[in-house]
Amino acid sequence: MQIRHLHRLLAAEPALRHTAFDGTGDRFARARHLRAAVERLARVERAPLAVTDARTSVRDGLHREHMTLDSPVRGSFHGTLLAPPAAAPAPAVLVLGGRNARLDQLTGDVPPDHPDRNVAEQLARAGFVTLSFDHGIGGGLDATRRAGRDEGTLLAHAFALTGRSLLGALVGDALGALDVLAAHPLVDPGRVGLFGHSLGAAVALHTALLAPRRGLPLCAASHLASYQALYERLLTGHEGAALPGILDYADLPDLYGALAPAPLQLQYGTADSYLEPADARGAADMVRAAYGAAEASASVEVHELLMGHGTHVGHAADFFARALSSPRSSPPSPASPASSSSPAEVPAQRIHFEVTDRRAVLDRVDAALASGILTQGPQVARFEELSRVWTGTETAAVASGSAALEIALRVIGVAGRTVLVPVNTFFATAAAAVRAQATVRFVDIELDGLGMDPDALRDALDRCPDTAAVLPVHIGGIVSPALDGALAHCRERGIPVVEDAAHAFGATLDGRPAGSFGRFGAFSFFPTKVAVSGEGGLLSAGLADDLEQVRRWRDHGKSAQGSTLHDRPGGNWRLSELHAAVGTVDLERFAHTLAARRELAARYDALLADVPGIRPHAVPTGSGSNFYKYLAYPDPEGPCDRALLKKRLRERHGVSLAGEVYDHLLCDHPYFTGDAQRSGGNGQPSGEDGPFERARWFARHHIALPLYPSLTEAEQIRVVTALRGELS
Ligand SMILES: *Cc1c(COP(=O)(O)O)cnc(C)c1O
Repeated sequence: MQIRHLHRLLAAEPALRHTAFDGTGDRFARARHLRAAVERLARVERAPLAVTDARTSVRDGLHREHMTLDSPVRGSFHGTLLAPPAAAPAPAVLVLGGRNARLDQLTGDVPPDHPDRNVAEQLARAGFVTLSFDHGIGGGLDATRRAGRDEGTLLAHAFALTGRSLLGALVGDALGALDVLAAHPLVDPGRVGLFGHSLGAAVALHTALLAPRRGLPLCAASHLASYQALYERLLTGHEGAALPGILDYADLPDLYGALAPAPLQLQYGTADSYLEPADARGAADMVRAAYGAAEASASVEVHELLMGHGTHVGHAADFFARALSSPRSSPPSPASPASSSSPAEVPAQRIHFEVTDRRAVLDRVDAALASGILTQGPQVARFEELSRVWTGTETAAVASGSAALEIALRVIGVAGRTVLVPVNTFFATAAAAVRAQATVRFVDIELDGLGMDPDALRDALDRCPDTAAVLPVHIGGIVSPALDGALAHCRERGIPVVEDAAHAFGATLDGRPAGSFGRFGAFSFFPTKVAVSGEGGLLSAGLADDLEQVRRWRDHGKSAQGSTLHDRPGGNWRLSELHAAVGTVDLERFAHTLAARRELAARYDALLADVPGIRPHAVPTGSGSNFYKYLAYPDPEGPCDRALLKKRLRERHGVSLAGEVYDHLLCDHPYFTGDAQRSGGNGQPSGEDGPFERARWFARHHIALPLYPSLTEAEQIRVVTALRGELS
């Protein structure tokens, strides 16, 4: 390869640098996008490090712990913790040396060969606990076999073979070490920062980008450059200092900029033979601009110094003294997709795919694209297969939950007759019946399991002898024991039941899965639900012929599969392979999702037990809720201004409650009041079925606490503390 080619290769702007994120009003959108790309490319395999073999000594007034750090993924390496004699707990810095740094010199265990080599020792003398470790990229491989080749290069090649990177492995070590440091008894875990020199700065930068705790202060020395300068003009870039593929997304200064608003100090020397002053200045401008755009200009400082490829430890110590002077107030979290105006620290909802899951989705999408089968192919088949475990019946995938409901009603044939729907449900339940040309009539609910009230259903069936189908809804993921009574009334009259199980994937009653009670069960995989595919739906049915009919309806009403003749007004209600790729990955982790939701609900139960003024909704015995919603009643006896409570929780405590299920009864929506009739609605019900007292009470009084698998115990405590504060 000639240098001309290298130039052409590296001179290109990161292709996705200017991907538009504006218009959302979210100044962290781009940084979030970059972190996600870094996470995907770095492919860090996180595993907690075990500390073994710690030997403690005191020398020259510094407490020293020499330890072995064991990682199940990467084996063991050496680390040294230094602590000043000052009162514990102290602020702490993870110190990552350069390519040729030696642990014993960093820590001053042997005299440094250069005055700024013992960074860890000097920072410890300035009052910080420090932890440094051996990168393990020197001296591990047999010298004769290596035959003069650079060990880092050889390791980098081996990692590349597996699609991983040396940098990703180093970052994995650093993330583990960060946890060890923060958990150390001498350390104040709220005051931890990162220092890195050269290659160590690259590791520190990516560690800061990927650390679960946002906003860690970072001092990076002798590493400010563009990738073009490092890997084309100067050829000083190290294999372990950049992520393969990163140039599609970002140049090095973009990555530093993505740390905003975290405190950042950058230092570089004008006599550094590894860098280029003009290039470093340009890079510094880009970092400053990114901090400016994040309204955090005051958090970044750049020192151009008269030095070589070194570190100005004094500036670093000053920086950490300022950045770690008090426990970090949580900066606005770039992790939460909330808007920048008032980012809720505990959001109502968080859709989270681990990076391994994201890679699996991408692989499956790629397989679909490579095969050219973009709909109704192997991914959809697998989605159906995986779903059966949770529905207990055969299934057919469709485009959405609403499509599932409409198709079931089309198969049953409800046109011109009545469909009974609980008055408390999502609009889509009733709208599906309307589109299937039925007349909708509403039924009140019962307050134990929030299902259709069996007595109210019996009365409605008496009033509406032309009822073609009944649609119970498993509100909040609870399959109500009252379903038995409702089913009995329908069975007696030979009326088919379609369960709207959009909330209830994985939920059970007496061990039987939601969706297996009625003739059909209809599920949604919309992003707010417990299992997701982006958009998507599913029908479960016990009868093979029912599912065969579903397959025809979903595919434009073809009279047989593959036929070009159509015998019914079907629609395009198919699920695409691309959505199924997301759905299969989500279903593969669904056992974990369900267990996590149930564990979180149990913890809310325990935390709320002694909070006056709020009563959790007790899930009835026999019902195995999936906790699509964790429902509770604030001040159930007295009046509660729910809107005001939600506003205060958000503004005073950074807590967003989840959406209600539901705040308006169906009969009160304009479409179902006389207004819609006048404007051409299809004559939907009058108030004669009311007054729906129980549903009305429920709609007014309940709240839903944030609950999703990535919710932490600390966040739950914060939610409950906020409720306690507002309700007592
Ligand atoms: C979400 C939902 C639907 C509709 O599902 P989509 O996939 O959005 O069409 C239907 N009924 C209930 C109760 C729902 O919550």
